Order: sequence, then C-alpha cells, then structure tokens
Amino acid sequence: MATHYYTIPEIAKETLAKYPQVDPERMKRAVELADARNLHIAGYDENGEAIPRPSYDAMIIKGSKGWYIIRPKAHKCTCPDCKKGNICKHRLAVYLYRELLRRTYGEKILQPHDPNTEPLPA
Ligand SMILES: [Zn+2]
Repeated sequence: MATHYYTIPEIAKETLAKYPQVDPERMKRAVELADARNLHIAGYDENGEAIPRPSYDAMIIKGSKGWYIIRPKAHKCTCPDCKKGNICKHRLAVYLYRELLRRTYGEKILQPHDPNTEPLPA
C-alpha cells in the first residue's frame, strides 16, 4: 500500500473547497507562511506572561507590526485583520501547519508537553 504524504498546498485546496467563507487571497499568503521558519510556539501570552506548558495551541508569527499570537482553538489572532472579524492569513497558516502535523504524526503531537509525565531526555 502506498503511503500518502500530505502537503500544505494540498490541505489549502481542500480547505478552500470545504469552507467558502475562507478568502482565497489570504489562503495564498497563508500557504507561504505555513512553514516552521515563520511559525513558532509561543513562550509568552498576549500580556507578556510566560506560558507554563507551551504548545501548538498558542503560536506566533512575525507580522508587519510585530509578533502576532494565534490561538487556533479560540479562533483568535492578535493582528488588526482578525480584529476586524476576518479569518486572517495567520490563523489560516496555523491551521494548515497544525493540520499537516496532525495528518503526518497524529493528534498527540499537538498536545502540550507535560514535564511531569513525559520528562525530556537528560
Ligand atoms: Zn492574524
């Protein structure tokens, strides 16, 4: 049986077909952003407080006016476009990236790391 490897553009195409409310232009930018070079797990929250167990539930992207925090489960991003009520390119980028990880490695990779039950190698 052939193994299927998902790609970001493929997931983007699927998402556009499934959700007509997603703007294709923002999705185009999101495909360029949905990369480990641009997307990072946030160590600090919107108020500058350290996040105790950083995970893919709070990610950051550098935008034109600083760093934006994206909270995929809350459907939120701190950028001006999202504040206007749009599904911004940052949220779409995080969605694509998480979806790629989930399909490739399974749900567990998206869960926060628990140092009490899963210690890092010494
Ligand atoms: Zn945004």
